Amino acid sequence: MSFSSLSQLECPRCYARYDAQVLQGVCPTDGSPLLARYDLESVALQPEEISRRAPDLWRYHELLPVSAAEHVVTLGEGMTPLLSTPRLAAELGLRRLLIKDDGLLPTGSFKARGAAVGVSRARELGVTRLAMPTNGNAGAAWSTYAARAGLRATIAMPVDAPRITRAEIVVTGGDLRLVDGLISDAGRLIGAAVAASSAGWFDVSTLKEPYRIEGKKTMGFEIAEQLGWRMPDVIVYPTGGGVGLIGIHKALLEARRLGWVEGTLPRLVAVQSTGCAPIVEAFEAGVRESRPWPDSATIAFGINVPKALGDFLVLNALAETGGTAIAVDDADLLGDLHVTARLEGIFLCPEGAATVAAARALAASGWIAPDDEVVLLNTGAGVIYPDTVRVDVPTLARDDVLDL
Ligand SMILES: *Cc1c(COP(=O)(O)O)cnc(C)c1O
Ligand SMILES: [Zn+2]
Repeated sequence: MSFSSLSQLECPRCYARYDAQVLQGVCPTDGSPLLARYDLESVALQPEEISRRAPDLWRYHELLPVSAAEHVVTLGEGMTPLLSTPRLAAELGLRRLLIKDDGLLPTGSFKARGAAVGVSRARELGVTRLAMPTNGNAGAAWSTYAARAGLRATIAMPVDAPRITRAEIVVTGGDLRLVDGLISDAGRLIGAAVAASSAGWFDVSTLKEPYRIEGKKTMGFEIAEQLGWRMPDVIVYPTGGGVGLIGIHKALLEARRLGWVEGTLPRLVAVQSTGCAPIVEAFEAGVRESRPWPDSATIAFGINVPKALGDFLVLNALAETGGTAIAVDDADLLGDLHVTARLEGIFLCPEGAATVAAARALAASGWIAPDDEVVLLNTGAGVIYPDTVRVDVPTLARDDVLDL
């Protein structure tokens, strides 16, 4: 049996198929992201065998695009804890609430999943230089995995993106360019630079290459595996580019085709910020694509994406699973960041906290029933956002008296 069962790339808009053994960007006909397709019939892998493998995301390598074990670039990413959170559940009026904590991944965010697989596959296909725009975490992860792989990375990001991610890029040898603008402006600069450059550069912007999503889909496999090859009722996901949500949906469909899980897929929930809610707007209007969100702003940087290339795939996944889309505001997510930290000892990133605020609202409205089993995705570590939580603590003099 081969290491990967990757067979082709497919355009989910026009269904054209493309050779997966050469470097591909978006669909040349309509600009849609391309999705990896596998020869699932050839996959004999079963849950018992998976459970004997190392606890990282490469345990699903037959369903990942890297064709040879020696091309895997890894820092041990994957198999993050799925934590039960009974006190938070009670606070929200739920009985079965779990948080998948991807804050424990290398680089402090789940962008490590996409970078590990995307960088491995890019190098396998002969890429030596990567370029991408980022709101911070993706750039940090891709620069880190590029260093691990011995590739060069040029990363453009808005000046007001979280400062810690600048350090992550520079310390791992990335060529960082700061842009006085939004991620969309950074994306234009990168696209033009790659187009004008000599060969060897590869644009790894969100969904402009097909393999980042394959790394992110492993969240879906892990959730099912950690529940004993069962699916929860609801999965709540903080949605920017939507890669993780599309990926989880794809993974669960593949797992079901392989007989690893059975039954109805979880209702998927796309959570956005009221300061940037293009997917929510499109979902509520019942249309298939979103419109660019003007003057987007939120403290949850990872979900500040005014127009996502894969918006139609997110909207399809919500429709197919009976899911929904909901926006929460910064004050509410910040409140629930504090509540979760105090009740459960889990210091969420602001994007992860947005899923708590969303679950609270959906439980209150009855969309989530008290008995539903709900999984929230915490996509990053609270500690990589040192400016999000303000603390104001007086300093004692050495001879002050400390009373308790
Ligand atoms: C990028 C990011 C998101 C959004 O991820 P998508 O899969 O692109 O929707 C959410 N949270 C954090 C912390 C991120 O860095
Ligand atoms: Zn197409």
